[in-house]
Amino acid sequence: MNQHSTTGQSALSLITVDHVSKSFPMSEGKGTFTVLQDIHLTVRSGEVVALLGRSGSGKSTLLRIMAGLILPTEGLVLSRGKPLQGSNTEVAMVFQSFALLPWLTVQENVELGLEAQGIPREDRRKQALKAIDLVGLDGFENAYPKELSGGMKQRVGFARAFVLEPKVLFMDEPFSALDVLTSENLRGEIDDLWNAGTFPSQSIVIVTHNIEEAVFLADRVVILGNNPGVIRGEVIVNLPRPHDRSSDRFKLLVDYIYNVMTNPTAQVTGEVTDTVQKITLTKIPPTTALDSPKNPYTQALPHVRVGGISGLLELIVDQPEGKDDLPRLAEKIQLEVDDLLPLLDAAVLLGLAEVQQGDVNLTAIGRDFATTTILRSKDIFRQQVLERVPLLISIVRTLQEKRNRSMRSDFFLDILDEHYPHEEAARQFSTAVDWGRYAELFEYNASEERLYLPEPMVNE
Ligand code: ADP
Ligand code: MG
Repeated sequence: MNQHSTTGQSALSLITVDHVSKSFPMSEGKGTFTVLQDIHLTVRSGEVVALLGRSGSGKSTLLRIMAGLILPTEGLVLSRGKPLQGSNTEVAMVFQSFALLPWLTVQENVELGLEAQGIPREDRRKQALKAIDLVGLDGFENAYPKELSGGMKQRVGFARAFVLEPKVLFMDEPFSALDVLTSENLRGEIDDLWNAGTFPSQSIVIVTHNIEEAVFLADRVVILGNNPGVIRGEVIVNLPRPHDRSSDRFKLLVDYIYNVMTNPTAQVTGEVTDTVQKITLTKIPPTTALDSPKNPYTQALPHVRVGGISGLLELIVDQPEGKDDLPRLAEKIQLEVDDLLPLLDAAVLLGLAEVQQGDVNLTAIGRDFATTTILRSKDIFRQQVLERVPLLISIVRTLQEKRNRSMRSDFFLDILDEHYPHEEAARQFSTAVDWGRYAELFEYNASEERLYLPEPMVNE
């Protein structure tokens, strides 16, 4: 069925994304929110492409645009050279949530898409049985989804996509809802099918936030940045299949991508070698409040609690030399990258840690913060916030301007609303309140919805 070509150039372009942008309207005529900006991407036959990015970077939106389920605001999607009109019949999708119909059996779920294509009953049955067999579910044809484990449900999800024999298989975080062992197992089987050349589609696009998963499955890892979602670059995996997790190159790539994902301004190179990794990952200067010409309300806070930051730093400080390898750290504390990275962002933003060469190091201040008493750690936190976190600096200054040393929270929410979709504006505010309270920079009265400066000390 599928002949994998390894030479990108000669391979057929199955999907081309050309200058695609996507914005959504914000609430009450507050303009639009740009989710994807000027995306170019080509999916060729014979390759597995991973779209890697943090949550909210627009991965699912991009996949849905390529599937023709939603329209881009600007730009064009081509399917085998022709502008896409309506839904893309060359693709089938596997969803994180399985998305099975509970009142249909396994077989009926798998047949559903064929039915829509008007394929005769007997053919439907045969093709469905073949797909069910391929995912290892024979014997379960007549079971209902509720009788199946998560892993088996997702096998049905795969069978339902396979049976359509799409040119391109789309998977949107297909293993994220499964436990570690089940996802490992299923991921391995999908990879085996691909490597054996018996895969029912010519290429795969997988959306993931999991770095190891991307390097394990993909030939190319396309890295998306956040706010708005842009393609920062791509990394060519260039390993023999199956990709050996214990090989030096695998580890180098994982380290490299960890670096890129923790340094939003680092340049992303295509060919990663040992030297490239060292040269291109020049450390970005910290965004201090003073040298930043930006609006303080546009520099998003990572949504983490102060307790989470201290917990992470305490784990790192216990390591030899006060540093830890990021992939190992993630594995050790069983944190998804999506949860770990915001903690690291916060630590870096606050000047408590630095990320380099796939390692996280504590700064001197960070070490102090992680080892001192709670009272002193609050002082350190406050001092770092006042030097480095524009949103909190701005809130404190605003409160200081007021004679009654207080302000309605609406005031800040309204400004945040100008820059973020409403939900995110509210999250930004609540994270700012959490940090500000911890630092004892201000108090928040939830029933009055007001922020207050603390009572001045007598000696002030
Ligand atoms: P990812 O899959 O990378 O986590 P998504 O593509 O789901 O990201 O979403 C990216 C951003 O777009 C998010 O901030 C999300 O809230 C926003 N978004 C997605 N769909 C819509 C929509 N229909 N209306 C408004 N905002 C949306
Ligand atoms: Mg998504």
